[in-house]
Amino acid sequence: MVLSRLLGVVTVGVLIVGGVATGTGTAAEYEQREVFSPDGSIGRVVVPVQEEAPAPRAGVRADVVAIQQTGPSSERFDLVFVGDGYTAGELGLYRQHAIDRWNEIAEIEPFKSHRQSFNVWAVEVVSPESGVSNDPRGTHRNTALNMTFWCGGTQRLLCVNETKALQYARLAPEVDQVIALANTTTYGGAGGTVATSSGGNASAGQIVLHELGHSVGGLADEYDYPDDQYTGSEPSEPNASVYTGDQMRQHHTKWYQYLGKQSPDGGVVGTYEGAVYAKHGVYRPTQNSLMRSLGHPFNLIGLDAMTTAIERKSRVASSNR
Ligand SMILES: [Zn+2]
Repeated sequence: MVLSRLLGVVTVGVLIVGGVATGTGTAAEYEQREVFSPDGSIGRVVVPVQEEAPAPRAGVRADVVAIQQTGPSSERFDLVFVGDGYTAGELGLYRQHAIDRWNEIAEIEPFKSHRQSFNVWAVEVVSPESGVSNDPRGTHRNTALNMTFWCGGTQRLLCVNETKALQYARLAPEVDQVIALANTTTYGGAGGTVATSSGGNASAGQIVLHELGHSVGGLADEYDYPDDQYTGSEPSEPNASVYTGDQMRQHHTKWYQYLGKQSPDGGVVGTYEGAVYAKHGVYRPTQNSLMRSLGHPFNLIGLDAMTTAIERKSRVASSNR
């Protein structure tokens, strides 16, 4: 997958939800970002769209190291790490953070069985200062990608200048998913075209896994908000539906062939009410998969969607490790 296609599909975490006209005729735009809690729960918050001046062209220079290179990028899924708040003297720490986060991802299925289908790159972005802004709140640090906690007023929401992050990421041979790592041990992250994560926090890889569910598998969010009623049409994603189990069987649609099977996240596949941000009128396949809250495996439907996408891209059989 090339970057242009990536930009077309990885939009689940960042949706423009509306504009506010002002008296001068200019408009302020807002966007929703996924935010993750240490207890595993996931939600979305609305933040103003950040002013994102691109880095000067001459400034976009960095070495790219391969965390692992298993084949030509045209036949691999290319994960690209970019780092922020790492000084020239801290690039060793950055490489270790990238390796740790990748190892955390590669322990979870379907990545575990398909580890060889991935190329993993670390772009060695050098920042003038160590650490990122608002860590703790009120501190400002001069960094290459302007990463900051307290984005939109939410402490653990870790934002990045996506324009700059993508400029650096393109130094890698190919880009399928960009992950911006902040030089911190504080828990945080965000979903979006560029997923963000704390480089030095052992739980932060879970955020990246959830985002890969969107970008690799094309999966919907399975979390909901109390009392919200779903009023939309049938979701296009494989893991959310307005149909009950009986209706799925009747119409041979969605996960009808999976109904009643055991799922890796526990329990059996069915139709559990509550998904895609609504409590009623829409169903998810299992009680609590990684698309609903962190710290759980993907469910059977998500696993199969991701495995199909990885194998289509990589042409590497899962047994060929
Ligand atoms: Zn999500």
